[in-house]
Amino acid sequence: MNQLENNKSPLILEGVSVAESIRARIRQETANFLKETGRRPSLSLIQVGDDPSSSIYVSNKHKACQEDGIDSFNSHLPTETTQSELLVAIDKLNNDPLTDAILIQLPLPDHIDEDSILRAIDPNKDADCFHPFNVGLLTQGKASIYPCTPAGCLSILDYYKYDLKGKHAVIIGRSNIVGKPLAFMLLSRHATVTICHSRTVDLQTVTSQADLLIAAIGRTQMVDENYIKPGAWVVDVGINRLKEKIVGTTKIRKRVVGDVNYDRVINKVAAITPVPGGVGLLTIAQLLSNTVQLAKRRLNI
Ligand code: NAD
Repeated sequence: MNQLENNKSPLILEGVSVAESIRARIRQETANFLKETGRRPSLSLIQVGDDPSSSIYVSNKHKACQEDGIDSFNSHLPTETTQSELLVAIDKLNNDPLTDAILIQLPLPDHIDEDSILRAIDPNKDADCFHPFNVGLLTQGKASIYPCTPAGCLSILDYYKYDLKGKHAVIIGRSNIVGKPLAFMLLSRHATVTICHSRTVDLQTVTSQADLLIAAIGRTQMVDENYIKPGAWVVDVGINRLKEKIVGTTKIRKRVVGDVNYDRVINKVAAITPVPGGVGLLTIAQLLSNTVQLAKRRLNI
């Protein structure tokens, strides 16, 4: 019997609790790592250019590393950095024995070929798990590290003990960083998986069959009650920043909303992640987790 048939209110899948449980484990692991090796696990971030959102993401990542016992280093390169200069910087980190994990902050400036850059990172130091070798392992169900946002979605479902086996999971979005890797991860956990995208015909008919609906679209509150099967679990990956004029004033209010219209679906779902306060909080926690795991693997701990 699902939550609705049981007349229970929907379960709000709070990212805060999940992130805190992951980060408590990380703090324990980094303390043990320090004891065993005399140093902390280390993450090197490379940012090219001054995209304001990227700068915020990078500084949040450094702050989280500091809080959880990871050394983080920043290479902030100018926008004009050439592809070969960036490749040299990556090569240096690949060969640095004290660098455990590397992250290139995306997006890169247009003149740089993102695929070549991601391929240049040593797969054993690939904090984001975007290298084709690691993606290949993921598709075979043999990965030991996972891309951060899809891993965050699964951590939430695991924390709230959602049994994926045999469930019909529908993902809206087929990007390389969310939709596709998540599909393979759900398959490995024995869900039946459907991926939808911008050319899917009659999207609502497909999503209305989902026991688990995951929205990773980048379209402000697109998913309303017409997309939802009663009693479904919903994971909203979307982060959409709105600027709204406050009625009767000249003031602008900024807020973040998801790809799901929370207010319109809340009475139809059994469980849902809020935005903010849902998946977003997990992405950094998973990055820290990947860093520690790569460090331990490199040092055979
Ligand atoms: P993307 O733009 O790379 O991919 C969007 C996908 O949505 C595409 O596959 C496209 O086919 C599909 N799509 C677009 N319009 C559609 C429509 N009308 N109907 C059906 N499908 C449609 O985006 P992304 O990088 O995968 O990110 C998706 C969302 O998740 C964004 O809001 C992004 O900000 C957010 N995001 C959040 C985190 C996090 O930490 N929570 C991390 C990454 C991305």
